[in-house]
Amino acid sequence: MATEAVVIVGAGAAGSTLALLLARYGIASTVVDQRTDTRLHPAAHVVNARTLEIWNQASPRLIRALEAMTPPIDTVNLIRWCTDVHAAPLGEIDLLSEPDRLAEVRGHSPFLISHIGQHLLMPALWEALDDEELVDFRRGCHADVDTGSVTLRPLEAAPTAESPRFVIAADGANSSLRDAAGIAMDGPILANMGSVFFHAPDLYPDGRDRPLLSWIYHPRFSGVLIAHADDDYVLMTPYLHPAQAIARDSENYWNHQLPHVIGVTDYQIRSTGTWTMTSQMAATFRQGPLLLIGDAAHRFPHTGGFGLNSGVQDAHNLAWKLAAVLHAGAPDSLLDTYETERRPVVARFAEQSTTNHFKLDEVTAPLGVTNRSLHRATEFMATPWLSRIPDGVMAAVADGLTRAQTSRTKRLLRDDARGRSLRRRMAETIPGQLEHFVASGLEFGYAYDSPLVDTATEGPCLDGDVSFYRPTTHPGARLPHTLVRDDTGDVRPLHDLIHAVGMTLFTAQPQEWKMAMPHSISKVPITVTSLNPPGTDTRCAVLELLEIGEYGAVVVRPDGHVVWRTPIGIDAIDQFEAFVLRAWAPLSKVRAETGQNQADRHQEQS
Ligand SMILES: Cc1cc2nc3c(=O)[nH]c(=O)nc-3n(C[C@H](O)[C@H](O)[C@H](O)COP(=O)(O)OP(=O)(O)OC[C@H]3O[C@@H](n4cnc5c(N)ncnc54)[C@H](O)[C@@H]3O)c2cc1C
Repeated sequence: MATEAVVIVGAGAAGSTLALLLARYGIASTVVDQRTDTRLHPAAHVVNARTLEIWNQASPRLIRALEAMTPPIDTVNLIRWCTDVHAAPLGEIDLLSEPDRLAEVRGHSPFLISHIGQHLLMPALWEALDDEELVDFRRGCHADVDTGSVTLRPLEAAPTAESPRFVIAADGANSSLRDAAGIAMDGPILANMGSVFFHAPDLYPDGRDRPLLSWIYHPRFSGVLIAHADDDYVLMTPYLHPAQAIARDSENYWNHQLPHVIGVTDYQIRSTGTWTMTSQMAATFRQGPLLLIGDAAHRFPHTGGFGLNSGVQDAHNLAWKLAAVLHAGAPDSLLDTYETERRPVVARFAEQSTTNHFKLDEVTAPLGVTNRSLHRATEFMATPWLSRIPDGVMAAVADGLTRAQTSRTKRLLRDDARGRSLRRRMAETIPGQLEHFVASGLEFGYAYDSPLVDTATEGPCLDGDVSFYRPTTHPGARLPHTLVRDDTGDVRPLHDLIHAVGMTLFTAQPQEWKMAMPHSISKVPITVTSLNPPGTDTRCAVLELLEIGEYGAVVVRPDGHVVWRTPIGIDAIDQFEAFVLRAWAPLSKVRAETGQNQADRHQEQS
């Protein structure tokens, strides 16, 4: 069967989201994944509100499926530091301890950050792909690329060579498409991690006070425990050399360790795995028809939960641009803005995740156990000349180093003045870790700077606080969330009224703006949309939130990022005309009407 103009290699969160969004824009795609089923071993669990907004745009049906598996918020609010899961905590962060703060965060989006294990999430995404008629989803199909063509190798059929217009490398951290294209990954390896996914119904039998995350400092083990739905857990710990038992004979290793760490013997191991914690970015996100998204383009430490979420954002940024090129005749160079816009954003996520990783040292430094020393040891163990030393020797050295580190935690168990002082010093630093777990400023506040956005008038949208999000319509920012009435009088999130093609201009004075539109930009798709707040008492608040006043306008593109705004009404029409002619008219010159019609039709149907 022939492939579509876009072939997406890898149906992880990034590739699946891209395919679903392309379908919303009326673009068919072929998605291949070498796996026949989704992975059992979970990785991501923090699904942020922006991701849910994007998935809502991609597939409301998917959102309904995810809502059904979202745990109640008061079961995923505790972050704990402890010596073992049953001991009194060294300290805790309760994410629900400030109800006002929670209410504020709820006001930023129709969705709230949630915790859904990737092992539950991915089957829902694959089901959405199966249900989407514009997605040709091929499971069990490996892909490799050679200059200009992609070879698809289904499990039970002969390989075929295809030359689609675009190939998307959504093939994950170890992207073979990226490697085949000779695109390097730059950035350090921070640690090697081993993990076990297990079921333990007796660990928190009544479910009360079950922490979402537990940092455990036990004399035999240091690591982190992540609580998943259905009494499932993931326990992770670093290791130094691939010859250590955790990597070589993982099931035995975990069967030996688990009873000591979790204190119960009734458990079943579901799977084990290893992964490399890095902070790395691909040298380029594009090479001709090959575009990199998700982990293929960037990898961060898990501390912050940005990996999957940023892959979904990559797809969101790229989908409407691919649609504009394929359906509306926009020049291929539009796709270059994908990297221009996304690279600084993901670089900031990488920086924050790395900061979070090393900031954990503030808690453990009094113990003499730090991620800094782990990083140094990891780098040392990877030095090339050590590869000449037999694995058995290296494993013994690595085990010895690991034991020396973890045994320092014994001091935490001492019931004397020094033990109490140590525990107190560690507890005092725990509140300072909040930024690691509450990053609303990055969740909603990431903004774009490129020729598609009017930064000439007000300058680029500057990075805000990590934890606090300040809604703004500064060009480049995500349009803030609010509720409005649509044409039929129904109250809906403002984001639902954003058009799939071209620009949407929101204003409280639609007639004036429609009449003022100059003929010179009539070929550029601009939909003037009336801002009708749900009640007269909310009118001022909505216009104030959008920072445009009674007569102004805010203009957004299909991914909901602001490209232009004015508070001064149609007197600013000349500025708007100049911006559109400069930035957007070149994208619409050869626009085929069919592109707009197809996307509009698809949006109406869904
Ligand atoms: C322990 C841990 C915790 C994490 N926690 C979070 C978190 O809380 N929140 C968060 O946002 N992120 C988190 N992450 C990161 C997150 O898991 C990844 O960023 C995310 O899975 C990347 O998605 P992706 O679609 O880019 O790639 P992947 O999920 O790796 O998907 C790639 C797909 O491509 C397929 N594939 C690969 N090569 C080929 C080929 N040649 N042909 C065909 N198919 C191919 C694979 O089978 C796979 O299905 C965590 C990661 C780890 C390890």
